Amino acid sequence: MKVKPDRQPTKFCSACGAQIEACAEICPDCRAPQPSRLEAHKNYRDQQFWFTAAAVGFNAVIIDKFSDSYSHWAATAVSAVAVHLIVTRWMAGAGRAPENPPELPEAWFGERLLYTIREIIKGLFSIPYIIAECSSTLFYIGLVVLTCVGVWIQR
Ligand SMILES: [Zn+2]
Repeated sequence: MKVKPDRQPTKFCSACGAQIEACAEICPDCRAPQPSRLEAHKNYRDQQFWFTAAAVGFNAVIIDKFSDSYSHWAATAVSAVAVHLIVTRWMAGAGRAPENPPELPEAWFGERLLYTIREIIKGLFSIPYIIAECSSTLFYIGLVVLTCVGVWIQR
């Protein structure tokens, strides 16, 4: 594992979705040229919208059709991953993603796992800020969480 001298904020590749350094102009993974900061923010909002739509749609189907405990836990897992994905896009847009992401071409899965754990912890600490901000990110998280709670209430 390479030691990097200073802070390396991250962003998500607009083509393949890989997590890359914020200053990268070309994705090291798929070689796609990266959009401007403005376009990147629009890209994050689009991604947040689709994660929300997928999770809310999934939860709605579970509420409507299934009442077994497997479905409840499946809806909870899908909702948790959706909230994580929404929060990571918010952190990338806000420049608050954890520093020093693993280098995609050579990183070991353990390095990536540790980075993901750091993302989850930093994401949890970002929730109060997201609530205070009252932005579209909060709206999306609210939809996912409320439909997930709905899955548990209706059984
Ligand atoms: Zn890429």
